[in-house]
Amino acid sequence: MSIIEQEEQFCAHNYHPIPVVLTRARGIYAWDTAGLRYMDMMSAYSAVSHGHLHPRLVSALNTQLTQLTIVSRAFYTDKLAPFLEKACELSGQDVALPMNTGAEAVETAIKAARKWAYTVKGIEKDKAEIITCEGNFHGRTVTIVGFSTEEQYKDGFGPFAPGFKNIPFGDANALEKAITPNTAAFLVEPIQGENGIIIPPESYLKKCSEICAKNNVLLICDEIQTGLGRTGKLFACDHDDVKPDGLILGKALGGGLLPVSLFLAKKEVMDVFTPGDHGSTFGGNPLAAAVGLEALKLTVEKQMPEHSAKMGEHFKNELLKLESPIIKEIRGKGLFIGVEINEKYTSARKVCELLMNKGILTKETHETVVRFAPPLIITKAELDKAIEIIKSTLSEILDGHAAA
Ligand SMILES: *Cc1c(COP(=O)(O)O)cnc(C)c1O
Repeated sequence: MSIIEQEEQFCAHNYHPIPVVLTRARGIYAWDTAGLRYMDMMSAYSAVSHGHLHPRLVSALNTQLTQLTIVSRAFYTDKLAPFLEKACELSGQDVALPMNTGAEAVETAIKAARKWAYTVKGIEKDKAEIITCEGNFHGRTVTIVGFSTEEQYKDGFGPFAPGFKNIPFGDANALEKAITPNTAAFLVEPIQGENGIIIPPESYLKKCSEICAKNNVLLICDEIQTGLGRTGKLFACDHDDVKPDGLILGKALGGGLLPVSLFLAKKEVMDVFTPGDHGSTFGGNPLAAAVGLEALKLTVEKQMPEHSAKMGEHFKNELLKLESPIIKEIRGKGLFIGVEINEKYTSARKVCELLMNKGILTKETHETVVRFAPPLIITKAELDKAIEIIKSTLSEILDGHAAA
């Protein structure tokens, strides 16, 4: 039985992987079981922004592995506080609550917003509303998929939690109209990743931030995917000079080694939590904290946001220069780029499979968008190599189309 058949038999079919079996990776490259090398232009949905097995992250992990790993938050450890202090310092937030996966940190944000609404804003019990956006992606828990607008994410999983209201993404007026005296928070991705790298209009977030402030509504930004340099700034909020009331981080925060997530907020918001209100057995463990701290330091020291901005601009321009009829649109900020495929020619899935055959790994999002989000350490020469491969792949598709 092949590995793929074995996985098909023993693993739940909740994913449809690209047919490659990876066995090791380093930096921007991964190798399959036959020894073939691929450029990783996917970075595990931005969890591997620092590149695979970054020596400093591996070293931080290994050092911590000889000291202390998991003790739960029943006790203090010497690693958690320095990690959280750094995260607060970089984000301009006051306090952080450590979790593991992104979805858990989003759930934490929702709990914080609701409790803040009852205890600080004075909303009547169980009446708090949270405004979210059409096309959102915040994770896969039942609460979170309950306010998704993607039918497949919800189908068969109801009933869902009430208290959420969707508005169009990118429309600040819609936010203003949707706010009621019962609105606790507006939860938003500064750029919608899973929805296809959707960039909102200029100063959208700034306007939303002003509307929220005026109405005493919390602005909570989900930067699980856009944070830590991905979009060419440390946080995507920085493009609009916005400091949200709550900030959610994950993915790259774990340095591609562990699941590490945080909900960060202003003191007034985080103060709603008292001992026993909320928790996580693994959240904030010293192994995660040691890696998380090093991941943050590396991001800043290596100027990864600045590099992402430069490389992203270059890559986008080179893609534009291809002038391929197969490309309908190129969207992106920094190294967070979506290429909309003209479905007259082919599907995004097909493009990903052809790219795989030529040594580039990425994954489609929806039917028509190919995502390019390589590790932020990628060089210009490596991007140029990727462009060559993309160019020849698109030519092949075009030739095949003409022949058909
Ligand atoms: C990936 C992602 C999540 C969910 O994170 P998990 O670690 O998969 O639970 C939430 N929000 C955004 C914007 C994401 O990209």
